[in-house]
Amino acid sequence: MPVKSRWQCAIPQCSFPTYVFTSPTHPLPKAPLYIDALSPTNHYLTTHSYRSTVVRIASGLISCGLFPGDRVLLYSGNNIYFPTVFTGIIAAGGIFTGANPTFTARELAYQLKDSEAEFLLVNVGSIDVGIEAAKMVGLDPEKVFVFDDGLYVDDEGGIVKWTTRERVKGVRHWSDIVMAGNDKFAWEELSTEEEVNRTAAINYSSGTTGVPKGVEITHRNFVANAQQNVHVRNQSQKPYVTPHWLCAIPMYHAYGQTYYATIAPVRKITTWILPKFDFHTFLSCVEQFKITNISGVPPIMVALAKHPEVAKYNLSSVVNLGCGAAPLSREISRAVEGRVSRGRGLKENINLKQGWGMTEATCSVMGFHPDDRDEDGSIGEVFPNCEGKIMDAETGTQELSVGEKGEIWVRGPNVMKGYYKNSKATRETITEDGWLKTGDIGYYNERKKWFIVDRKKELIKVKGNQVAPAELEGLLLENPGIADAAVIGIAYAEDERPRAYIVLKPGASLIPDDVKKWVSERASRHKWLTGGVVIVKDVPRNPSGKILKKVLRERAKTEVVDT
Ligand code: AMP
Repeated sequence: MPVKSRWQCAIPQCSFPTYVFTSPTHPLPKAPLYIDALSPTNHYLTTHSYRSTVVRIASGLISCGLFPGDRVLLYSGNNIYFPTVFTGIIAAGGIFTGANPTFTARELAYQLKDSEAEFLLVNVGSIDVGIEAAKMVGLDPEKVFVFDDGLYVDDEGGIVKWTTRERVKGVRHWSDIVMAGNDKFAWEELSTEEEVNRTAAINYSSGTTGVPKGVEITHRNFVANAQQNVHVRNQSQKPYVTPHWLCAIPMYHAYGQTYYATIAPVRKITTWILPKFDFHTFLSCVEQFKITNISGVPPIMVALAKHPEVAKYNLSSVVNLGCGAAPLSREISRAVEGRVSRGRGLKENINLKQGWGMTEATCSVMGFHPDDRDEDGSIGEVFPNCEGKIMDAETGTQELSVGEKGEIWVRGPNVMKGYYKNSKATRETITEDGWLKTGDIGYYNERKKWFIVDRKKELIKVKGNQVAPAELEGLLLENPGIADAAVIGIAYAEDERPRAYIVLKPGASLIPDDVKKWVSERASRHKWLTGGVVIVKDVPRNPSGKILKKVLRERAKTEVVDT
């Protein structure tokens, strides 16, 4: 029998912007919502000015030629305007798609093409890459804009100044969008059928197999996932501590989007945005802004557990520690708990709790009751209105029971609509009765707490970022000296690294360093072959040609890792 959540919550039936703001006119507080962590006194948006800016961007995009359903790609790291563009695109009736800000032109072009983006907003620091990618896919230059954080808005939502409105290298400045908009615009309210079916964002994930695919997240998916999170949080019986959040997770990714661009404005949580992750700045922000919640990915937790500098900062404001996106060992969790709790005279250490989810389920599916403690590395229990089950990982036909390990399948209102224009992949990933095959191997115990033990899917996670082996294999095969290639992930210091097995063409004289260089010149850093390159005679395949990754993973365990 599938494990049902012990919670049920009501999911508001409305469009995403209405969920975030209640309505286009509902009075909103003029208290800071998003604050630039590097310029906190003069660069922030209040809840009120946040909505005004969203509304201006939405109407400005329509004035600049956006039609309902058009995809707008934002290629930028975080800044206080990232969430305004995210919500503005959706309020305009468009579809948001965000790209990793470290992407190369080739990777960006892939996403532009696959999502069939009509508009591109490029961070000013990456303008050359943006221009090159736009040219590669033949994007209309009038629909490419430079994006920056040079806009200053007062508490009422009035524009105070722009640092610049100049074109950069011939590319229009995004102020053209904002200034073409007005703050009287009201977004379209959606019927129940529309909010269930209308896509709000296309996030990229390789899922259980193959290259990155566009994951269609609907208005209902976003509303449901945020509401599930809020509902669980509201179960706490502990005295309320006004939350102060620090956003160090990229908002192009489902994790950052759901927590910082959805739950933060819904719960009106003051959120300091860190434009670029640097551990010292991160620690000093926690101290300076009295951050209550540290939510991160395993590499941040490893640094918190081990970095000698941690002891120099006062982290006594922190009351919640959370981690997700990749596996985290209990040893590291314990070390983080000890360091964050040290010297505070607490009865028990602050507990670090993991959450689990995936892009295909909007963001989160499992987590903890806020007053529970985790002592054994669980990922928590199934979220409200969701259910989970364990299926035999080989056959996918037999349901297993408590304590037995198999593939985790989940079902709920936060499961994606499907992969964009890829019904085959959708059918392979979601069953007809709505179960999402996660590709993760795990089990649940008698207390209905879930654990991840392995991954069936090929996905590699490097510092929380997705690396799709199929994408790297495709890139390697473009090298004229390479006849065959297989990429696997190997565990390395609480993280993973991509490792390649290469078959050379007759007469080719490539050495492993040439192969690494080939990749590092074409792919963003997290995809580099830091797990090593091995030249082999052949890549093990089954009779139908599928690479036997299990064989390679076993082999890698016996080899000295060449980094
Ligand atoms: P993404 O779609 O980028 O969010 O990646 C989702 C995948 O990350 C999951 O299917 C897991 O393989 C992995 N993942 C996320 N959270 C955890 C966790 N707490 N422990 C282990 N793996 C995780």
